[in-house]
Amino acid sequence: MSKIKSILSQVTESQNILILGHVMPDGDDISSVASLTLGLKQLDKNCLGAIDSPIPEYYKVFHGVDQLISYEEYSDFSPDLVVVLDCSSPDRVGRFESMLSQCKTIVIDHHATNTFFGGTNWVDSSYAATAQMVYTLNKALGVVYDSRLATVNYLGMATDTGFFRFSNTDERVFKDAAELVKLGAKPHFVATTILENKRIEQLKLFCVMVDHMIVEDSLAYSWLSYENYVENGCADDDSTGFVGEMRSLRNIEVAILVTEYPKGEVHVSLRSKNWFDVSKVAAVLGGGGHARAAGCSFKNTRLEKVLNEIVSTVKDHLWGERSETGEVS
Ligand code: 5GP
Ligand code: MN
Repeated sequence: MSKIKSILSQVTESQNILILGHVMPDGDDISSVASLTLGLKQLDKNCLGAIDSPIPEYYKVFHGVDQLISYEEYSDFSPDLVVVLDCSSPDRVGRFESMLSQCKTIVIDHHATNTFFGGTNWVDSSYAATAQMVYTLNKALGVVYDSRLATVNYLGMATDTGFFRFSNTDERVFKDAAELVKLGAKPHFVATTILENKRIEQLKLFCVMVDHMIVEDSLAYSWLSYENYVENGCADDDSTGFVGEMRSLRNIEVAILVTEYPKGEVHVSLRSKNWFDVSKVAAVLGGGGHARAAGCSFKNTRLEKVLNEIVSTVKDHLWGERSETGEVS
């Protein structure tokens, strides 16, 4: 609670506030940056929300999202406070990283792999979503919620819990989400916008991933090359959720998807179902995340090389640890 008090006083004392999210933003990150930016603007702060990556088009129907700016659009703003949301390490803010050493920085995050890189760090992995921490902060600041703000803040809670299915789904996230629904959040609108809004090209790309998939015991893995994306008229955010479909297979504990987009940039998405901690594997390879969902990224490399490395690392940990803990499949 003293962390929140310190954040409240720093926010109250500051006038020009920059709010940053992470590269390749997900629903929780976009929701968190938009909701805090809208909240602080309501309190007459000169506030800017920024993310150094394109924001997928379908998020732009949510209030405040189309006002978030890119790195290219950022100029002539001298913040006296930077708030970094949903980022476990400073590299996650992309090219904004140099701002962090120049300004007073507050980090608000729920990743267990957080490196505490801010001046003030409110890091609590017991929250299912960073959007809940933003909601808590906005409430403490006296921000008034209308239906549009409630909906964009609800978005992060829904997406980071896999629409209230993942192992992080607990009483508190239901309670926070229910409060937002009472304030006018629209769960059906969020669900259809995120889950039932696919292009046919995405389903074709999904077929390629299934074609490439290999299942070995409790591990499923696959890959998508840059050429696969281009041939199917897709970009990197078109494969969001694919790795979860591999995990959904019966008896699969770990799913790995290795993707290349753009050329030479390789991203690894890791998911586990019941017990394996994928964040430890991601952290060893310079990435991070949560126990059941983690990732890491590499530049100037080949997909095949990363795939071999990650698969063999996961196998070592997965089958080594299972025999140690006596797990059976
Ligand atoms: P996804 O597989 O959806 O890209 O990411 C799953 C989780 O891992 C998210 O919580 C995300 O923040 C984290 N993550 C993904 N990629 C990276 C990365 O390159 N570095 C770090 N630190 N975390 C990542
Ligand atoms: Mn998150």
